[in-house]
Amino acid sequence: MRQAPQRILERAAKWPAKRRHWYVDRGLAFDESNDHNPLVSEECPRCHGRGAHDEWGEDEHGHFQALVGCSACKGTGTTGERVRYFDNDSPVAEVAVRAGGWITCPCCKWSFMVTDRDVWTGLRHVRCGQRIRPLGGDA
Ligand SMILES: [Zn+2]
Ligand SMILES: [Zn+2]
Repeated sequence: MRQAPQRILERAAKWPAKRRHWYVDRGLAFDESNDHNPLVSEECPRCHGRGAHDEWGEDEHGHFQALVGCSACKGTGTTGERVRYFDNDSPVAEVAVRAGGWITCPCCKWSFMVTDRDVWTGLRHVRCGQRIRPLGGDA
């Protein structure tokens, strides 16, 4: 069931343009100069940046699974485009910090601690990229 890379890229372009992240990429700088939104190489939508993907098939020996180089990005893991790490340009939201430093993101409704720099850049919620100005607390 192999699909032409071009079709996959066209399909991917129609997906909701939301880049979501679970953790801050420590190799990138999130600061005032880039509005906590650095330029990065766009992830290949076919292999999700791995440069390879699993392929399942069947031959005379039975079913097989193999890791094959991604033909959409030729193994580079990127489309070659430079894009913003987050695609969330919503205005800064002011959110009260609760006891213990907890804050609930008004964009994705997830709660996190403002001291947790794995999920909070100091301006943006890493999960959705929402800019937040914490009010109160000692953040
Ligand atoms: Zn790829
Ligand atoms: Zn969020």
